[in-house]
Amino acid sequence: MLKAERISKWFGQQRVLEDLNVEVERSEFFVILGPSGEGKSTFLNIVAGLIRPTKGRLFIEGELVDDSQVVYVPPERRGVGYVFQSYALYPHMTAYDNIAFPLKMAKWSKRDIEKAVREVAEMLNITEVLHKKPHQLSGGQRQRVAVARAIVKRPRLLLMDEPFSNIDPALREGVRSELKRLVKKLAITTIMVTHDREEGFSIADRVAVLMGGKFAQVAPPDELYKKPCCSKVARFLGHNV
Ligand code: ATP
Ligand code: MG
Repeated sequence: MLKAERISKWFGQQRVLEDLNVEVERSEFFVILGPSGEGKSTFLNIVAGLIRPTKGRLFIEGELVDDSQVVYVPPERRGVGYVFQSYALYPHMTAYDNIAFPLKMAKWSKRDIEKAVREVAEMLNITEVLHKKPHQLSGGQRQRVAVARAIVKRPRLLLMDEPFSNIDPALREGVRSELKRLVKKLAITTIMVTHDREEGFSIADRVAVLMGGKFAQVAPPDELYKKPCCSKVARFLGHNV
């Protein structure tokens, strides 16, 4: 579904990603774990088309969307939804207008917009707060509005960067299993970044550990836990090595 081929990214003299390869399957829930500053958000930004790789090629459903030279499909034509690390809701707009925004940009009719917004709001249980602005919402409600905005156009690929970090730990588990159920029901391929190893392991079909500019290991949670590929991954997972 997504294929990254020998992706490298430099910011000036700093190498962040180097020769990164990965394939994500259709409808998969794929989790990226890794220490802070290793390039997790950078990778999502490249997939979304917000930044360009220095080298390498990126395919979405077989279509070349970036070859780091002449080929570049812009974000709005990639069919990708993005929940940012900070949610990035527009503070002056209501929840309704935040969710409707991508559809307005795509010039949908008012009627179709209303229908689509109501539908995702219902799925995410935020119908009652659609008239509120972000600062009037709880952390969990803000997160749901951000998810609603990311899926309202029914993307083929959903990217989420630490989507639960602002949510009360006691509520997190319920929210994440609900979210997983929803994306599975809609058959949306999902790539989620998290710092929280336990959270990543409990939600993922496969987990990828980003270290040293590439994915050191990609495996189903139990396999990764039982058979870390190398001592740096084992150490990162908290094993005594
Ligand atoms: P965290 O877990 O803390 O969110 P991360 O793995 O998401 O970290 P990135 O945000 O991808 O890390 O950043 C990777 C590295 O690239 C960092 O050293 C960061 O300072 C650098 N970096 C990211 N974006 C830019 C940019 N636009 N210009 C220059 N350097 C950048
Ligand atoms: Mg990040």
